[in-house]
Amino acid sequence: MNQPVVPLLLTLVLACGLRAQLTAESPVVEPIVTAPDSAAIAGPALEPEVYPLTHCLITGAPLGSMGEVVQLDLHGLSVQLCCAHCDEEAREREDLFRKTITKALLKRDGPDYPLRDCLACGQPLPRKPLPLVQGSTLLLVDTEACAARLAAEGGAWAQTVRAAQAAARGAASSNH
Ligand SMILES: [Zn+2]
Ligand SMILES: [Zn+2]
Repeated sequence: MNQPVVPLLLTLVLACGLRAQLTAESPVVEPIVTAPDSAAIAGPALEPEVYPLTHCLITGAPLGSMGEVVQLDLHGLSVQLCCAHCDEEAREREDLFRKTITKALLKRDGPDYPLRDCLACGQPLPRKPLPLVQGSTLLLVDTEACAARLAAEGGAWAQTVRAAQAAARGAASSNH
């Protein structure tokens, strides 16, 4: 009759021992402060990037009309294709995609671009800044050298622009 109690007691003793051990160790463990910090840096939640084209640049077919849209990354540029058959040709025509997407983003996001200074050097942007694209985010710089620097350094710069965008939108909506 008493037999089942023994394993139970044993479990309790072990569990208490384990807890005591954890408690004893806990002062040594440094509190992790990185999570709240990075959340504070991120500020307002970033909206997902929106691809600026509605059609596949290879076939001209509307995206989604041939099944699930195919996503492609061409050296940091987000590209969407109507189907997997377009993949190879898209890689060969990266220039076309970069040119067309940059133009579309300049038209869509250029007027509301949230920063006044070049991301790379901090100088005020000229009246006709140079556009480049990371992911589906427009970046504006003042010189070819700055454009090359951002292109080489990758997607973190797009995050900076998108955070500024989110902050600008937040400020605009709280003004209403
Ligand atoms: Zn296709
Ligand atoms: Zn610059």
